[in-house]
Amino acid sequence: NAEIAVFEVKKNGKNNICYFNNEMYSDFLDALRIERQLSAAIDNEDFLLLYQPQYDTRTNKLRGVEALVRWKNNGTIVSPNIFIPVSENNGSIILIGDWVINKAVSTLAKWKNELDYDGIMSINISTLQIKKEDFVRKLKAVIDKYYVNPEDVEIEITESVLIEDLEGIISKINTMRAYGIKVSLDDFGTGFSSLAYLKDLPIDTLKIDKSFIDGIASDSSTAIITQSVIAMVKQLGVITVAEGVESKEQFEHLKKMNCDNIQGYLLGKPMSEDDIAKLIMQKQE
Ligand code: C2E
Ligand code: MG
Ligand code: MG
Ligand code: MG
Repeated sequence: NAEIAVFEVKKNGKNNICYFNNEMYSDFLDALRIERQLSAAIDNEDFLLLYQPQYDTRTNKLRGVEALVRWKNNGTIVSPNIFIPVSENNGSIILIGDWVINKAVSTLAKWKNELDYDGIMSINISTLQIKKEDFVRKLKAVIDKYYVNPEDVEIEITESVLIEDLEGIISKINTMRAYGIKVSLDDFGTGFSSLAYLKDLPIDTLKIDKSFIDGIASDSSTAIITQSVIAMVKQLGVITVAEGVESKEQFEHLKKMNCDNIQGYLLGKPMSEDDIAKLIMQKQE
């Protein structure tokens, strides 16, 4: 790791020298390669959605599913953790995000019409997407196009969106909620100033991040904080979802803490549209 790649860049007649270590350089090459392949993927619509079930903690009833995007690249399935950050950097997240919204809402309509599905569809939205002036109008247009009930659509945002323009985002959240669309704060506990934002944010749902769930059965301070967050937001009328629940012990702790809903490998991994359809039909038998 002592090796360093050095680039000399001529700028304003001066020599500016940029230092990269090998790891940064290979990350940079990866990003370039992903960026080039992504633009072809967008043209070909080489994406797919998987859906992870969420269950009501008390009744074990299906509350809904979260749509999670994947990229089909030459026979391999690429994780969003790899390509979403690149697409956020080059702006292609807007096109990918539009595709995701259309696919998720049309799938919701299909399940409602064909399977009498009574759950919701949660959709992850990037900061760049929601910052666009026409975001809410475009979302509403898709919901209208497929004749779904806006109350069955939940938009997941993250704390990072709140840093730059809290007022602007709050006004968009209010517009969405006026239509009946649900708004959820994802990955709660991973950002900063969480409590300050909670005070002002008109959200329906809070998703407690896996990093908290990981510790609730083994670490008493994590358990105390999680329990307090659940009790506190319940008083604000906010529904809670625990993310990344992997063990029966975690489930039992969350049940005692009155966490409303559970999502995680313990109850179901992200799965195909057909597998969710089977699950919906089983529940109704
Ligand atoms: P997220 O929204 O917090 O989604 C939860 C992630 O945790 C998913 O990873 C899910 O597969 C994973 N997960 C759920 N339960 C468990 C568990 O019990 N154990 C473990 N180890 N993992 C669990 P995934 O699908 O790889 O997505 C990663 C992130 O990528 C998402 O985190 C979200 O931030 C982003 N993402 C996914 N789909 C989209 C999308 O359509 N648009 C945007 N903008 N971002 C997306
Ligand atoms: Mg999410
Ligand atoms: Mg999350
Ligand atoms: Mg996440």
